[in-house]
Amino acid sequence: MGACFKILICKNKPNPKGLTMDKDKLNHPLDIQVKYLKMVGPRRAEQLARLKIYSVHDLLYHFPRDYLDRSRTVSPFGMAEGADVTVRGRVLNVSETRPRRNLTITKAALESDRGVFYAVWFNQAYVKKTLRPGTELLISGKIDRAFGAVQVQVQDFEVMDKNEELLHAGRIVPVYSSTAGLNQRMMRNFIHAALEQWGGAYAEFLPQRLLDEEKLPSLPAALEHIHFPTEKDSAERSRKRFVFEEFLLLQLRLLLRRRSINREYKEHRYPDRRELRQKYIGGLKFALTVAQQRVVGEIYDDLDKALPMNRLLQGDVGSGKTVVAVLTLLRAVEGGMQGAFMAPTEVLAEQHHLSLSASLEPLGVKTALLSGGLGAKERRRLLEQIKFGEVSVVVGTQALLQEDVRFKRLAVVVIDEQHRFGVRQRAVLLEKGLRPDVLIMTATPIPRTLSLTVYGDLDMSVIDSMPPGRQPVRTYYVSPDELPRVFGFVSAQVRSGRQAYVVCPLVEESEKMDLQAAEELYRQLVENELRDCRVALLHGRIPGSEKEKVMGEFRAGNIDVLVSTTVIEVGVDVPNAGAIVIIDADRFGLAQLHQLRGRVGRGGGEAHCILAARLRTREAAERIRAMKTSNDGFFLAEKDLQIRGPGDVTGVRQSGMPEFRLADLARDREILIKARHWAEELLGSDPDLAKEENRPLKEYLRRFQQRTENFDHIS
Ligand code: ADP
Ligand code: MG
Repeated sequence: MGACFKILICKNKPNPKGLTMDKDKLNHPLDIQVKYLKMVGPRRAEQLARLKIYSVHDLLYHFPRDYLDRSRTVSPFGMAEGADVTVRGRVLNVSETRPRRNLTITKAALESDRGVFYAVWFNQAYVKKTLRPGTELLISGKIDRAFGAVQVQVQDFEVMDKNEELLHAGRIVPVYSSTAGLNQRMMRNFIHAALEQWGGAYAEFLPQRLLDEEKLPSLPAALEHIHFPTEKDSAERSRKRFVFEEFLLLQLRLLLRRRSINREYKEHRYPDRRELRQKYIGGLKFALTVAQQRVVGEIYDDLDKALPMNRLLQGDVGSGKTVVAVLTLLRAVEGGMQGAFMAPTEVLAEQHHLSLSASLEPLGVKTALLSGGLGAKERRRLLEQIKFGEVSVVVGTQALLQEDVRFKRLAVVVIDEQHRFGVRQRAVLLEKGLRPDVLIMTATPIPRTLSLTVYGDLDMSVIDSMPPGRQPVRTYYVSPDELPRVFGFVSAQVRSGRQAYVVCPLVEESEKMDLQAAEELYRQLVENELRDCRVALLHGRIPGSEKEKVMGEFRAGNIDVLVSTTVIEVGVDVPNAGAIVIIDADRFGLAQLHQLRGRVGRGGGEAHCILAARLRTREAAERIRAMKTSNDGFFLAEKDLQIRGPGDVTGVRQSGMPEFRLADLARDREILIKARHWAEELLGSDPDLAKEENRPLKEYLRRFQQRTENFDHIS
């Protein structure tokens, strides 16, 4: 690491502000451990590490979470009890009392223009030595008139008699997120010291033309002003710069990554034969929607390119993604090659295989399901067929990419409902030396802002309209006491020939209790409201083969009501299901609720979604209200983002959502979109960032890549 060398530099040249000849290589704050900073040292460094502050750079980029305006001083006289004030006074004398064992009160009498007042500190006996008579103080705190005299309970103070910059009072003061043992005063002092010592080592790395156009302050000024602003505006402008910087660096990395993945030309090409597609489309009972046609066009354009496709298809539940998947797979088949269709669960793989084989086998396309339930001998036989190209379309779970599965000529991989997981799968493919065209499909629409950060390295297609004639699902809210009536309704639905779902929550932390609750509900329903119906219970503990059997029976109409934990969440397609009752709906996220609701209303006819919950929190009430107002997954995703913040939007955290230091996706979306444009523009006009004006940016990216661990989601 050469850390010793760095200490030397540090010690010998405490003020590298003037150091210009070598300011990039060894002396960058990114490389300097925070413990070598003046006033920090090893013990404090350990505490700082708890805030993920390891280097001087981390410290300087530990931005205030808020500011206190202590720039105006007032007279403490005539201020109301409890008011937050900043006042000024000269120390007359100091006393210390210990009214209780654990309480030390330090009290200073202070002289001001308008008379004497008092300042009190609790359990901070060490302040006494700074409070010598005659010392001029600036104090921020709360007015307390309890004892007749005017008194200020000190929150922070500054000694005015030095020629030093005011940090803690008499100005707009930064407030940092902190940790046990590190108070605001220390944080401010550390950061101020870091700025003094290293602020000057930061050279601007964003291109000047970008700063000019976006009206952003330069790096050294922004660093200074975000921590110690002279006015509110300067803090806000600086914040904007760092948000922009954060987004731009991320977007550049995502775009660079996309380029590095798609660097190698694929070996396969698609002939322009259309007969299979045409037959398939001709056999459909409906015409493709305009949105479906558009995304198929986008996908076909990709397939005809020399670099492999790397595309995400977003489409709300029921928007008709499966047809698009089949039309993609058929290009491979027409070219005498193979396609793979991956689903997240065995249940879904089986369902996909059913519908795929039903529509493709009549066209002479050989399909197969590589299921975990196959016997050893069957499996071996199927693997042979795949290897020799006798099967054209293989459906399965992620097991499709296992070691022993070899394809003759794999051209297309479609990954259903897998979000980020799909990206990892692609890496597995690459490791196997395969460069198929990859289409990842998701029915969990995420807001554009989020998709830019989570999927910024993928091309994006969106099915933004529903097949015609679909009736929106009617959504109701009921309190749990009304459930008997609701189940009566379910029973009536069954009598009229429809099927229904009853969904119970299941979360890991309370899995056992949740399972019991589901089983109990099932028992009750069978004995009471649904005793005339054929009811089955499905939950995560039921073995895969059993699950498939139950799903098969439900699909075939031999089961009327499926009581289930969320195993039915994604993709399950049983058109005859007309009602879904969601128990404890407040425990589900918005995206999840929307997914569940998407299980009904898939086959025409009226469809109902009943949300049963006690609304204990405002958030839960907001979610339920949103569900009642809208059937639009994208709208709901935006709402989810607003209600819960990006980290909690379903699938996003697991998807490798980067944590931003400063940026707030809901609030800063415009900056994000601008940063995206700039990243595209910069790499478009200068792919290697080799131009003089872009070189500092390239260098910073390189350095950043080396140093920053918490960006491993894109490594
Ligand atoms: P998802 O996007 O949720 O995977 P599916 O592909 O399962 O949706 O399609 C949902 C239902 O809509 C299916 O029953 C399918 O046959 C039907 N569907 C798909 N496209 C159309 C269309 N253009 N017009 C009418 N129905 C369609
Ligand atoms: Mg689907």
